[in-house]
Amino acid sequence: MPLIPTKIKIAAGNDSMAVEWSDGHKSVYLYSELRDQCPCAMCTDKHASPAKPETPFPMFGAKRLKLEKAELVGRYAVQLFWNDGHSSGIYAFEYLRELCPCDACAAPARIEPAG
Ligand SMILES: [Zn+2]
Ligand SMILES: [Zn+2]
Repeated sequence: MPLIPTKIKIAAGNDSMAVEWSDGHKSVYLYSELRDQCPCAMCTDKHASPAKPETPFPMFGAKRLKLEKAELVGRYAVQLFWNDGHSSGIYAFEYLRELCPCDACAAPARIEPAG
């Protein structure tokens, strides 16, 4: 069974988005993390560039990054709409789940200790 989000809450507090998955797992993503991992061509280009900006979002200046909308794309992805007008990031469910910052998902090994 494919893993899909059953619930997406974009304003989950503390500048984060909360996702509930079909397997019962709950993920909470900071806006800054999500935007930083934006899979669109424009952003991945930027990630690949060797020059590191001093702040993660220099183009916003003092403006605070906010997620305005999350829309499902077919049955495989979710598209995020940001308050600066950026909306070309389409996060496949699989990718989104990989980004889950929780301890369980961040752990390097997924093998449960026996007994
Ligand atoms: Zn992007
Ligand atoms: Zn997780």
